[in-house]
Amino acid sequence: MWPVKNLSRLLAAGLALLVLAGITVWRLVAVLPPAAKSNQPVSEFGSDRAFAHVQTISRDVHVAGSDAAHQVRDYIAATLKSTGVHTTITDGVGASDALGSLFAMARVNDVVATLPGTEPTGTVVLFAHYDSVQISHGANDDGAGVSTLLETVRALKAGPALRNNLVFLFTDAEEACLCGAEQFVSQNPLAADGGVALNFEARGANGPVIMFETAAGNAGVVDVYADAVPYPVATSFAVEVYRIMTNDTDFSPFRDSGRFTGLNSAYIDGSAVYHSPQDRSDYYHLDTLQQHGANALAMARAFGNADVPSLQRPAGQDDTYFPVFSALWVYPGALVWPIAVLALLAVGGLAFVAWRRGLFGWGRFAAAFGLAVIPLLAGAVLAQLLWWLLTVIRPGYLDMMDPWRPGWYRAGVVALVLTATLTWYAMLRKRFGPWTLAIGGLAWLALLGVVFAAVVPGGSYLAAVPALASGAAGLVALAVPAGRPRLAAVSVGAIAGIVVLAPTVLLFFPALGLATGAAAALFASMLTLVLLPVFEWLFPAGTREDCAIKDSALAGPARVAEAAGDHEGMDPGRRATPVGTRRRAAAPALVVGVLALAFIAVGLIIDQFDARHPEPQQLMYALDADTSSAQWVSTDSKATGWVAQYVSERRDVSGEFPVVGDNTLTGPASVANLPAPTVTVVADSTADGRRTVTLKITPQRDVRLVYFQVPDAQVTTATVEGRKVPIENVGEPFGVLFHAPPDDGITVDLVVAKTGPLTVRAMDGSDGLDGLPGFTPRPADVTAEGSHDSELVLVAKTYSV
Ligand SMILES: [Zn+2]
Repeated sequence: MWPVKNLSRLLAAGLALLVLAGITVWRLVAVLPPAAKSNQPVSEFGSDRAFAHVQTISRDVHVAGSDAAHQVRDYIAATLKSTGVHTTITDGVGASDALGSLFAMARVNDVVATLPGTEPTGTVVLFAHYDSVQISHGANDDGAGVSTLLETVRALKAGPALRNNLVFLFTDAEEACLCGAEQFVSQNPLAADGGVALNFEARGANGPVIMFETAAGNAGVVDVYADAVPYPVATSFAVEVYRIMTNDTDFSPFRDSGRFTGLNSAYIDGSAVYHSPQDRSDYYHLDTLQQHGANALAMARAFGNADVPSLQRPAGQDDTYFPVFSALWVYPGALVWPIAVLALLAVGGLAFVAWRRGLFGWGRFAAAFGLAVIPLLAGAVLAQLLWWLLTVIRPGYLDMMDPWRPGWYRAGVVALVLTATLTWYAMLRKRFGPWTLAIGGLAWLALLGVVFAAVVPGGSYLAAVPALASGAAGLVALAVPAGRPRLAAVSVGAIAGIVVLAPTVLLFFPALGLATGAAAALFASMLTLVLLPVFEWLFPAGTREDCAIKDSALAGPARVAEAAGDHEGMDPGRRATPVGTRRRAAAPALVVGVLALAFIAVGLIIDQFDARHPEPQQLMYALDADTSSAQWVSTDSKATGWVAQYVSERRDVSGEFPVVGDNTLTGPASVANLPAPTVTVVADSTADGRRTVTLKITPQRDVRLVYFQVPDAQVTTATVEGRKVPIENVGEPFGVLFHAPPDDGITVDLVVAKTGPLTVRAMDGSDGLDGLPGFTPRPADVTAEGSHDSELVLVAKTYSV
């Protein structure tokens, strides 16, 4: 039987948690995309108009250099010209060592549209790439960015001209090597004076558009973004995380040039679609496109009227910013340390007052602080264990960063985090008392705020702001009468934690995927620590003996009676029987634990592989003409299912076929009738112990890439297709990967520190395994993995010239 007093406690807890849950949902919904809008006025962004472009652009796979890519290029140029904008198609060679381990180049055709300003202070470049990867229709990546910019140009032309020069750049060969963007930044006169660079990308199929990367010293540009865009979703922590990760987009060449400031926006949820054959217009979310476009148009207008030189100079600091109540809260980086220190003072002050009141002794507090590391980290451990278990049950997940439908699993991770915290709390609350545990948890947040301020300042707010608010609320709670007023005080204090951390959990699940669910789980764990004083009310009021301070020698100079009252969950309630108390103390953790299992089970039932949500399996074919031998190669983690008929043995073939990674599964294959690329000497001279030679490397079939390597000579100068190669950026041995080569091959000018015969390893790559001897296409519920080398057919031969 449930004592009346405890029932009323439970009702109060239920009410407080219901209100906080409502605020949480409200916060989460606020960062979701707005509803798609059709039939918009001509000066506004319409996702229906943009989607019409998506459908045209994504009709076929349009990898750089392909006929389909040329059609997309011409469609973009024709659409721009139809709006009356001056448009050119450039023809050049881009070069980059940003992606992969090989130095890469590409023949690129960027589409460049210019809108002259009325009184320009500088140039604003808005860009998106129009190429897709070799197996993908690129409806999202980056049909979304291209269509967003085409619709933005149209809307801008319907309004008054802007102050600054605007350049709309549609880059080629981003997927290959960021080469279109690199070529623009290094060669195009429009980029010579730098300016503001704004990139529009997609790394998934849905979810909010996040402004996730900035140039260094971002205070100026972030202020413009925060004031201008209608749906700002951005956090300064994402900028820090992205700086640590090694990913790159077209924004990188702009950022690295030092001449541009700017912002990078993308949507990232639904990453199962990313780079896969399923990146088509029927896997599309128009609300996401609406957000991309409405924000892009607002940024074009705001930066188009801003003072570019003052933005271009990097500000002395990065801003801290995060979404609050459908706006972006921004404060200067100079406040990061003061807020972190204030949080430390608030939590320290709370601990001191609690000690003075005799709520705990320092020995007990130190123990509680040490034990609070368990709920802080247990959720992250459980999240990784869950992913491991899911890959055991469903091995197809092994090569995915997120399942097709991760929603139920994400809910499962959050429920696991709650289970861990509530179990820990139920086990320790009687021994330590609620104040000790709550302040021990807050102390971790205050400490993390300081650590983050030192290491990743843009992320310090995530711990410092909740610690500051909850520390202050705790001080208020100790000043008001025990009972409901205290519950009200700590509940209000927890709101800051919800506002800051709940959207972070939501954004981190897709950012790193369930494969790295620990990240989102860690922020969820931090939030549960903030909520401990509210959770306390879910538990029956403790007994006087349980709560009396045992290490009273160390306790503060308070009266024992007052201390006992404070201990009982901030509520001097009646006593319950020990057995019933124990059983009821286990109830909250039990309820969320069962929920966690239920969510995970529903996830497993719902997210099964089928024709619309197929399992990714990667396969390539590699033919060595020197030995007349061929093999199947796969980057899959395990040879299971369809791919197991081709590969079985883990072997490093990156020496013979350098575009392939060094950790692959291989298996024997029949030799196909595929001619190797030829190497011919066009010019040759020797002087001063050096040989100067011009080679023509010519594919004998329809290919996407050509690679050559000079393994046995020191190359001192190299020019490929007329562009000088920065030797210092090319690793050993000297080799260059060339994407989208002309039909008659590439011309290579070399100077080598050698006079005798020269060994040249030449390789080319085409896309598509159909027709190869022994190849059977995948069943309907298996698809090619979304990667840059799926379905690649390599043919290599070594020459002596
Ligand atoms: Zn992309």
